[in-house]
Amino acid sequence: MMAKQYDVVIIGAGSVGTPTAYFLAKEGKKVLCIDQYSSSGQGQNKAAIGGVRATHSDPAKITICKKSLEIFSAWKETAGTDIGWKPGGYCFPIYTEKDEKTMRDMLPIQKKFGLNIDWIDANGIAKAVPGINMKGLRGGTLSPDDGQVSPLMASESFTREARKLGAEFRYREPVKKLGMKDGSVASVETDRGTYTAETFVNAAGANATAICEMAGFSMPVIPDSHEAGITSPVKPFLPPLVVDIRPGSDVMTKNFYFGQVESGQIIFCYTPLQPILGTDRRETSEFMPILARRLVSLIPRLKNLTIRRLWRGLYPMTPDGVPIIGKAPGVDNMFLGIGMCGQGFMMGPGVGYNLASHIAKGKPAMDQEIYELLSPKRDMGRGKAERLA
Ligand SMILES: Cc1cc2nc3c(=O)[nH]c(=O)nc-3n(C[C@H](O)[C@H](O)[C@H](O)COP(=O)(O)OP(=O)(O)OC[C@H]3O[C@@H](n4cnc5c(N)ncnc54)[C@H](O)[C@@H]3O)c2cc1C
Repeated sequence: MMAKQYDVVIIGAGSVGTPTAYFLAKEGKKVLCIDQYSSSGQGQNKAAIGGVRATHSDPAKITICKKSLEIFSAWKETAGTDIGWKPGGYCFPIYTEKDEKTMRDMLPIQKKFGLNIDWIDANGIAKAVPGINMKGLRGGTLSPDDGQVSPLMASESFTREARKLGAEFRYREPVKKLGMKDGSVASVETDRGTYTAETFVNAAGANATAICEMAGFSMPVIPDSHEAGITSPVKPFLPPLVVDIRPGSDVMTKNFYFGQVESGQIIFCYTPLQPILGTDRRETSEFMPILARRLVSLIPRLKNLTIRRLWRGLYPMTPDGVPIIGKAPGVDNMFLGIGMCGQGFMMGPGVGYNLASHIAKGKPAMDQEIYELLSPKRDMGRGKAERLA
């Protein structure tokens, strides 16, 4: 059978792959996006709780997420589709002196990058987060331009818009092999076909290392498990997504974060104290009693909510907690959009936009020097993973 020829083949139709397909198709490229699941966004994308913020401390993450916010917040006008965009910002309520210093120390760099974020006093936080426990509350940060989006609605909409521009999507096709020729990728092979292209993008999320290995090199993307849940809907009362960065007094939870989605449900997630390494996505309920106590102690009025569903997903982690974006080392026609850690949904559109520019125009849309901070060739040994969502 003759291999089908494309300009770009993307492996993975998730948080990164779907916006990348859209922006590449917009650049006039003939695109194929392949996924092992039956539709877009069914990998880690649908595990995300949909928090989107530019208020990081890393210049590259700030720049990428500013672009993502621009894309998400204008998407209804761009595509005419609701993706559940809810402005309302992120709020980090702070209860300890040490955490206050951490948050205040980040403000100068965040301001330098033009982010709308400030330290506000306890009464200001109580206004933003009605019903919050005031005992020991020192104040906190609020960044009103951040927000929330539905990950499944977003990946579906990126897919639909990419298709309108001529991109093709093939589902239920796990990529089994890369055909290599003279040190470049020549083709992608699945059980149902062989697809050739000039350029290939690895956007395979938690499975990214395996795809790199098919091309003869290695990248350290190490999945770890996180669990999340959602309640029944209630009347809207909580504009921001709230992040409690205190470790729990329990043995299990580090920070936790939650917000009320556009349709009224409270959606929540936590970071385990000890990373749960591996790819096991079977959900447990062991964190529920602990997290429920933490949620209710932070906002007592949440005690009447009913939890409807729990799930488990993976953070595709890197050793330094920073994504890996750019040209693959030693394989000229392969680009990487991998290692998104706990922030891949919010980074997806910004990564896709810059990768499309890098592929189509030879350079990213963002400042090259900042883009290089994400380079696959950087030293990933140093630095501490930024594991807040
Ligand atoms: C509980 C939880 C909450 C989270 N909350 C947030 C949040 O609020 N905000 C945020 O920004 N991030 C959040 N994240 C992180 C976010 O979900 C991930 O960082 C992001 O989805 C990773 O995007 P990706 O495109 O790299 O991977 P994915 O979205 O998983 O896409 C990769 C795709 O590649 C496909 N694939 C892999 N291997 C192959 C193969 N061999 N052949 C074919 N297809 C293949 C997969 O099927 C998958 O669809 C959360 C994660 C979890 C688990």
